[in-house]
Amino acid sequence: MGTTMDHEGLRHWSKRAADWAADYHATLRDRPVRAPLVPGAIARQLPPGPPDAAEPMEAIWADFERIVPDGMTHWQHPRFFAYFPANAAPASMLAEQLVNAMACNALIWQTSPAATEVEQVMVGWLRQAVGLPEGFTGTIHDSATNATLSAVLTMREQALGWKGLEDGLSGAPTLRFYASAETHSSVDKAIRVAGIGQRNLVKVATDAARAMTGAALQAAIRADRAAGLHPAGVILCAGGTSVGAFDRIAECVAAAKAEGVPVHVDAAWAGSAMICPEFRDLWAGVEGADSIVFNPHKWLGAQFDCSIQFLKDPGAQVRTLGLRPTYLETAGREEIVNFNEWTVPLGRRFRALKLWFVLRAYGLEGLRERIRNHVTWALRSRDQLAALPGVRIVTEPRLSLFSFALETDAATEALLQRINDDGRIYLTQTRVDGQFAIRVQVGSFDCREEDVMLIAKTVQEMLAPCSSDSLPSR
Ligand SMILES: *Cc1c(COP(=O)(O)O)cnc(C)c1O
Repeated sequence: MGTTMDHEGLRHWSKRAADWAADYHATLRDRPVRAPLVPGAIARQLPPGPPDAAEPMEAIWADFERIVPDGMTHWQHPRFFAYFPANAAPASMLAEQLVNAMACNALIWQTSPAATEVEQVMVGWLRQAVGLPEGFTGTIHDSATNATLSAVLTMREQALGWKGLEDGLSGAPTLRFYASAETHSSVDKAIRVAGIGQRNLVKVATDAARAMTGAALQAAIRADRAAGLHPAGVILCAGGTSVGAFDRIAECVAAAKAEGVPVHVDAAWAGSAMICPEFRDLWAGVEGADSIVFNPHKWLGAQFDCSIQFLKDPGAQVRTLGLRPTYLETAGREEIVNFNEWTVPLGRRFRALKLWFVLRAYGLEGLRERIRNHVTWALRSRDQLAALPGVRIVTEPRLSLFSFALETDAATEALLQRINDDGRIYLTQTRVDGQFAIRVQVGSFDCREEDVMLIAKTVQEMLAPCSSDSLPSR
């Protein structure tokens, strides 16, 4: 290898990278899930400024191996039970390598017809996979945050008769949006960014199951109307991030319809599970929504970034987000879809290829089996934890997510710290009715039952650090 990194160098080094990737995945189980580092530990190892002279790839590669892998939290680790998963199935990684090589910008159809058309077909495949009726179309965003922002902007403009785009919001009526406190912070962000203002996001009270009901939603909308405010949109929670809450989707959609208010559903995490028909009761009625987002990059194996937004009628969103300056026109091709008009950013990655690879390489049956296993194993882990002295299940499993705690917040926090310092598993926290709780979610693409069973074993050891002689060591 010479010192200049050229296309022959790419041939050599991308083979090295492929070997490295396979080895990395084969040895993930031997690594701590979370990087055991103090802030600054990585930055300290890099020179403070860029090099003037070209460096050989050997040196760059060696520094990568020396510095980066041990500085990572391994999201693909089979014992990653924190946050939500960010799965990268091998077939997805492979597709992304090909996308990387082509490095296209799929902003309009003409800038990569294959990217646009595979995206259209994959949206259709996923629509069928999660059991949505014909008529829904959609697009792929980078994140649920941007999908929800697009939906909020669209609902805002519908309510303003598309005047906000031209006139701004300063003279506009006060618009009101509705969501429960269980919805993700991306909803709050969308409301803020869209100029609605946090105080105009009404956090509708939930019932004992942490669900927004149709009656509560309708009452909130009517109260606002009576006060001279303008209800503009509802965002429903289908699988909340904290403890997996589901609003009563059918009731809430009916209530919103009765009030003439459009509905966006955030199913970022739980949407993947809807490829299994037995879980669809959880979001029954979702076909009444105008917009639905879910992230195949969470639980379906198509790696970040890949967030699908289904739309009953894309017209309103395209009218809101679509701009067609002369330099983006496609002469004589009015029938084609230019997906940048459906999303906030202009530039877009070819995200559909990994879906095509993943759906074919595992089949819906292979993906369903994984999700069903995760749900079953989460239940088993819940039972094992519940049997430990002092452990209390705080929220019961919703799909593969549940939470537990000890007697006091301080004890629970200390336990979480010990678990994560130990490194065999990684768990994160939430607050449930003000109380600190440890979340457990099972969803790693490569996890096995024994990985999940290690959760209770680890917790047991961490509860009694001196009396763990009967337990297998790592
Ligand atoms: C993860 C998550 C989001 C945010 O997803 P991004 O794609 O990271 O923006 C939004 N809502 C819910 C319910 C989530 O679980």
